Amino acid sequence: ASTILEVRGLKKSFEVKNGIFGKKKYLHAVNGLNFSVYEGETFSLVGESGCGKSTAGRLISRLIDPTAGEIWIDGEEISKWKESQLQAIRKKVQMVFQDPYASLNPRMKIRDIIAEPLVIHTKLTKKEKQRLVSEMLEVVGLNEYQGNCYAHEFSGGQRQRIGIGRALIMKPKLIIADEPVSALDVSVQSQILNLLKDLQEEFNLTYVFISHDLSVVEHISDHIGVMYLGSIVEYGPKEQIFTNPLHPYTKALLSSVPIPDPTVKREKIILKGDIPNPVNPPSGCKFHTRCPDVMEICKGKDPSLKQIHTDNHLAACHLYEKTIKNQSVIV
Ligand code: SF4
Ligand code: MG
Repeated sequence: ASTILEVRGLKKSFEVKNGIFGKKKYLHAVNGLNFSVYEGETFSLVGESGCGKSTAGRLISRLIDPTAGEIWIDGEEISKWKESQLQAIRKKVQMVFQDPYASLNPRMKIRDIIAEPLVIHTKLTKKEKQRLVSEMLEVVGLNEYQGNCYAHEFSGGQRQRIGIGRALIMKPKLIIADEPVSALDVSVQSQILNLLKDLQEEFNLTYVFISHDLSVVEHISDHIGVMYLGSIVEYGPKEQIFTNPLHPYTKALLSSVPIPDPTVKREKIILKGDIPNPVNPPSGCKFHTRCPDVMEICKGKDPSLKQIHTDNHLAACHLYEKTIKNQSVIV
């Protein structure tokens, strides 16, 4: 498959005032991301809140400007494009948010909310727009009658259908979905995940799926990137991440994912301490303050993301330095 999104050395820092002297400090929310996303696949970015995954999503869709790095979408490097040039990208890349309610105008009918991007980006007649909206209502599992209602009349799951409909109306290629099911009950979560999967097949959509929860992304992902304090610490095909996790942080996240087979037991790994303040991240491996496998070298040297033993399975961890040198497997 061809690459639809490529991110190279992507960084975003925010200036923060710190301490009584108001000395300038920087929060490196996204600290050098590299990954490729293939057309028609789902790439999931997973990590605890504050790891920079939402910032990454907002950078890719250019809702915010990167501090450094490149963003290639469909063969064009857009990281420095001005707002006027970004119109073209806004058609190709759409976002779906955790809480669609916050972004649904309470005084607008659902039909008009879904039609909004068409009003902004196209010169279609009213009739053409209404025809597309009627089609879209059906695609996301809503009916004509519901199209004439207001957002407060809908449940959380239905509101997410509306949010998805509005994102899809421009026929985008890439959807950035930031915690799209986190606010929903588990049963509704699976309905929305199934809808997203069906839509992906029907419209050949590519997803960047952002979640704090590995169990949510298990069925929808093709590749997964695990983020910690602004960086990807492990990247690989979904099967590899779930059956052969390499990074101690991935292992800890995975240990809280329920296993359907009650006879299989996974040892629960509880990480000590909280996520460090990203304004003052730990030296060396940023995970070393919480890592169950920490070694002396980890405190001084930041491990880089490297291919370990399987194609396309990368980890940033000193535990595997030997593996790389000897081209052998030690796990
Ligand atoms: Fe743990 Fe060291 Fe690996 Fe970091 S580099 S994850 S501290 S073992
Ligand atoms: Mg977030």
